[in-house]
Amino acid sequence: MSLRSSLALLFLCLTALPLAATDIVWPTTMNRASTQFPKDYLQPTVSGKTESGSFGMVREEGKRFHEGIDIRPEKTNADGEPLDLVLAAMDGQVAYLNPNVNGPYGRYIVLYHAAAEIPVYTLYAHLAKIEPSLKPAQTVRRGTPIGLMGHTSAGVSPITKDRSHLHFEIGLILSTGFNLWYAAQAENKQSSNLHGLYNGQNLIGMDPMLVLSQPKVDVLAALRSQPTALTVGVRTSKIPDFVSRYPALVRGDVAHAAGWYVEFSWHGMPLRWTALDAKSPQLPAGRWRLLEVDQTQRSRLTQRKMLGGDGRTPGELLTQSLEVLLSTAR
Ligand SMILES: [Zn+2]
Repeated sequence: MSLRSSLALLFLCLTALPLAATDIVWPTTMNRASTQFPKDYLQPTVSGKTESGSFGMVREEGKRFHEGIDIRPEKTNADGEPLDLVLAAMDGQVAYLNPNVNGPYGRYIVLYHAAAEIPVYTLYAHLAKIEPSLKPAQTVRRGTPIGLMGHTSAGVSPITKDRSHLHFEIGLILSTGFNLWYAAQAENKQSSNLHGLYNGQNLIGMDPMLVLSQPKVDVLAALRSQPTALTVGVRTSKIPDFVSRYPALVRGDVAHAAGWYVEFSWHGMPLRWTALDAKSPQLPAGRWRLLEVDQTQRSRLTQRKMLGGDGRTPGELLTQSLEVLLSTAR
């Protein structure tokens, strides 16, 4: 091989390397050098256990799920109110602003990050204030102050001042059919959906530390690092909104799919969708069917209600997720 073609080959190899990475900023003004151990940056629940501020089945003896992390304030004023500003974690756009304290999240902001390796949202809850100049659809650069940390919430148990924190989430949107699905549920007759597609039930988070622990992250690779805990076969000839929104999670012949083989994480994130043809043995007779369960994750799946109390049949959360996911595919 000539020197010239060797150099050309080297250039080709170098340019083919995965250079993609999204710049990430810690979402508060806390000094990152002080955030080495979880106890340094997490705000525990009244239990005082550090892990209760992290992501997962970390509350009420493992019975209650926490879909994000709670970041404690670094500085407070003489009254004990946080002085920490809340910052955009990545370059993105304002998707939703809720200035009212009318739900468990209190005042909250959702940003959308279309330029990440997979378009994800980030959510910032319990804010004392939202930066007044912020407007929906506005472009926001990472590190921009978007609010002030607080303890706003209209949940069952209020957040006391001494437990002020930023509840931070990162994840995916389940479906644009969510509003119709929500309105059709009998238990929602008395409570209208105040937050549209940015209702927490339509957002599926993953562990924020998969992304926040490094200054540059391939967000898609972080998402894919979550293992499959159970699989479901789905029958529908229409393309679910999730499939169109997240093509990076989809394999196979989308246009001719008779259904889908869907792999879920233990906490309910649909991680991979594989198109099924009409003859596939995984295609269910009905609308959907639970196929496989990773037995090593069974107790967590049951606690999360991805499985029923018997640990074998579909649980409430899995059923609800599939209804929402398929709400645009009827
Ligand atoms: Zn929280």
